[in-house]
Amino acid sequence: MLFTQTLIPTLREVPADAVIASHRLMFRSGMLRKLANGLFAYLPLGLRSFRKVEAIVREEMNGVGALEIKPTVVVPGELWKESGRWETMGDAMLKVKNRLGGDFVVSPTAEEAVTSLVRDALASYRQLPLTIYQINTKYRDEIRPRYGVMRSREFSMKDAYSYHADEASLDETYQAMAAAYRRIFKRCGLSVIPVRADSGAMGGSDSEEFMVESAIGDNTLILCRDCDYAANVEKASCKPEAAPQPQASPVPALEPIHTPGVKTIEQLCAFLKTDAHTFIKTLIYRARNVALDLSGAPGASGLAKRKSAAEAPEVYPEAFFAAAIRGDLEVNEVKLAAVLKASEISLATDDEVERLTAAPLGFAGPVGLTTIPLVADLTVAALQDGITGALAGDTHYVHVVYGRDFVPWLTADIRTVVSGDRCARCGGELYEKKGNELGHIFKLGYKYTRSMQVSYLDESGQTCIPLMGTYGIGIDRTLASVIEEHHDDEGIIWPMSVAPYQAIIIPITYAGPVKALAHTLAADLEQSRIEVLLDDRNERPGVKFKDADLMGIPYRVVVGEKNLARDVPAVEVKRRGETAVRLVEVSKAEAELSRLVHRELDC
Ligand code: ATP
Ligand code: MG
Repeated sequence: MLFTQTLIPTLREVPADAVIASHRLMFRSGMLRKLANGLFAYLPLGLRSFRKVEAIVREEMNGVGALEIKPTVVVPGELWKESGRWETMGDAMLKVKNRLGGDFVVSPTAEEAVTSLVRDALASYRQLPLTIYQINTKYRDEIRPRYGVMRSREFSMKDAYSYHADEASLDETYQAMAAAYRRIFKRCGLSVIPVRADSGAMGGSDSEEFMVESAIGDNTLILCRDCDYAANVEKASCKPEAAPQPQASPVPALEPIHTPGVKTIEQLCAFLKTDAHTFIKTLIYRARNVALDLSGAPGASGLAKRKSAAEAPEVYPEAFFAAAIRGDLEVNEVKLAAVLKASEISLATDDEVERLTAAPLGFAGPVGLTTIPLVADLTVAALQDGITGALAGDTHYVHVVYGRDFVPWLTADIRTVVSGDRCARCGGELYEKKGNELGHIFKLGYKYTRSMQVSYLDESGQTCIPLMGTYGIGIDRTLASVIEEHHDDEGIIWPMSVAPYQAIIIPITYAGPVKALAHTLAADLEQSRIEVLLDDRNERPGVKFKDADLMGIPYRVVVGEKNLARDVPAVEVKRRGETAVRLVEVSKAEAELSRLVHRELDC
């Protein structure tokens, strides 16, 4: 391909909003342009690498027996109403109406669409297991799209869905997918950290995220220094606190103390001259779409209920909860939402807190709280002799004992794990890293197949519901992450597998024998299926070298008069990212480049 015949608008300046390397370099190298916030267009150079990532993903999916289909991007809202996600997906889902007033969704993901296709096609156990995938456009109305295609609104995802007669079969496909994901990222030159989303204590794994380390990562990973425990902080658990030791003398009776104007934990620490870890902090949350059975829970009798299409027969559209945790720790809202089976939780407003606790702000506590259900963290159960707000102005309780002075409605692990906590699996020290999620595999069980009424007949003619798994990879984010991992100050350094071109030929002056040889070499290389860009611009060599470095094309071949005039005419060959320049005889150049390119492609 001739440079002047394609469209590679390289830039010297850095776009103002591009704060990470991949965003800067994709713009500067002419791979990408912005259409609007969160909406990007790939130009020819960018699309070449994008297609290579897609091809690797496709090859590995086909390799594990997944079947590619091409559903539409716009799907009927009806399907989302069936699964229950019409209400629960939130504002990230773009809903549109057609001219007849029908509801449609621009797919943010496709569990519903694919499951409806499978529902129509599935009849017998003989068709199972069945794994289907697409590589297709997704739209999510992200609140804050950022970092270029790392988090955009429209992007491309490989999403696969598998259907099974039993757990063993689901597990087999899940493991095959996990292995395929490892191969995909390795082939793209990426170092991924597979992160289990289960709790280390429970073992097993129902979900695994494939993360790359990144200073701007949206995820915090919790890793163990001594074993391979790795979890997203959203799900991470740690070794629970030791149970309270039987004490020589019993904890004195609960006692209210006067704490005028003392509202924060810090003020209370100063006032009582003690540490935050002796306090029980109580937070009030509003939860939406709670699928937990609240019958008998404090304050739950008056709550509205709604029939749900999802697995739980009924949900509470809105309910308030109190969460109690040791004063030096933070509540993990993702874990709390999971415990409550809620689609979403958020802190209650100040007014709501005062109304529900019947006390001024800052004096919430678990003792005597009867208006809403209380969820206590395991650390609260392990506290021997606590201090807490007394549900009355300027008053705290001391000598608070879990089980004696209050009994929570639920006790669960809802703490946010931090560096320095101990590993639930081996006791080692946990530490944090920032990461970006490139892919996700997940065992869904019956969640969609039940709500969408998928069934098949088993060997004995009985009607059964299949189990399901879901497996996603972001193509754009994967591509951007390759650049994050492979670049220097001058530009991108592509791994051969996803390079837009494998070699660039730079004639020092685009005229005479230099030009002629550049064309002959390009033709020869193309003949041996090497992807070549010939820089035929009338630019100074320095400009061409800079652009070649920026674009990151693996092999640079410089054709110059001086080297052609040697006894044995030669060209200069240099690998991007290395400093050594080699002279290669013109007569051997095609074979040598072919060897170099294939050596990298094969490994
Ligand atoms: P995130 O937490 O980063 O928003 P997610 O959990 O919503 O990701 P999934 O629903 O599991 O992501 O989607 C599968 C993959 O799609 C992700 O691993 C990621 O690679 C990609 N992806 C998701 N959202 C975006 C986005 N806004 N822009 C680019 N890629 C995305
Ligand atoms: Mg998301």
